[in-house]
Amino acid sequence: MRIKPRIALMSALVTVGLLVAPAAVAAEKAPVDPQPSTAKLAVELHKLAIQSHGRIRVTPIGRSNENRPVWAARVGHGKLKIQYVTQQHGDEPLGTPAALEFLRTVGVGNSAWQRKLLSQVTVDIVVRANPDGFERNWRYNYDPTATPEYGEAGKGYDINRYHDPAVAPEDNPAHEAGLIQRRYAAFQPDIMVDYHMQGRYKDASGKEITASTLWPTHSAVKPADVNFAKQIAVLVQRSINGAGGNVSQYPGGNYEGIARNGYGLLGSGSVLIELSDIPGREQTQITDALASMLAIARSAADGSLRQIDPAAATLIPLRGPALPGTAIEEDEAA
Ligand SMILES: [Zn+2]
Repeated sequence: MRIKPRIALMSALVTVGLLVAPAAVAAEKAPVDPQPSTAKLAVELHKLAIQSHGRIRVTPIGRSNENRPVWAARVGHGKLKIQYVTQQHGDEPLGTPAALEFLRTVGVGNSAWQRKLLSQVTVDIVVRANPDGFERNWRYNYDPTATPEYGEAGKGYDINRYHDPAVAPEDNPAHEAGLIQRRYAAFQPDIMVDYHMQGRYKDASGKEITASTLWPTHSAVKPADVNFAKQIAVLVQRSINGAGGNVSQYPGGNYEGIARNGYGLLGSGSVLIELSDIPGREQTQITDALASMLAIARSAADGSLRQIDPAAATLIPLRGPALPGTAIEEDEAA
């Protein structure tokens, strides 16, 4: 990776109050590789494990259909458990570099705020759930024998339609979704946040939307769990808007196989985040996703998350129309 200043990233986080004055902000850091190869991702994760002196624990949670490792990284040892998942859709990459930056930010170094945070929360991240889809720059996993209900025959399954809690991992036709289900079941997180990407949209005033978010909308999710997810969504809006973004409400569906709904049904505060695919804005999108990851961890740790009014979520503006000329295959209900 090229080594260039990364002061802007750190300054942005300090500005929005997400970092407690780390002393070494002046250290030069590189722009983030927005789409590291899966081989490079493995190298970066293991480097982080070493640089963190073991605070970051990296482990494969299984292998993709094409035998690529699917990695998870865990940091912290606190009681409150948070799961992030990135890149279920192979062609929606930016949550993955944000996850690496989150691990670096909280796990490398030994300052007081890091020690305190990691004593309060445990964060587990499935980093690039769909390495085969990434390899092909497509949405689905790779399964040429698939004749899926959700996905495309001859290509593969849409992993983010196979999180129905009624389907056991061993019976899950979307193999990598089963890997996520197993990781979730073993970890039992309080919070589950799933990072995706969407096309380009504007809000009612014509300003471009940089991200969208949504809580579970399946009717059987318990109201208390919906409310917790709404608190998380409000925090997502505040953290990303605070970093200079513009968050809207995602127009998602109610199907139980969508991770947002499936893990809400299982009792987590379950939220979707969609980063807009804006050419030239990749670094900022990674910074914004990182801001949301940090805000969720810190706010869960200090208890302020539970103080947010869940009703504020319904005030998050609805996503407006697509920018002219940017219509792409819509990630409906991702
Ligand atoms: Zn997606």
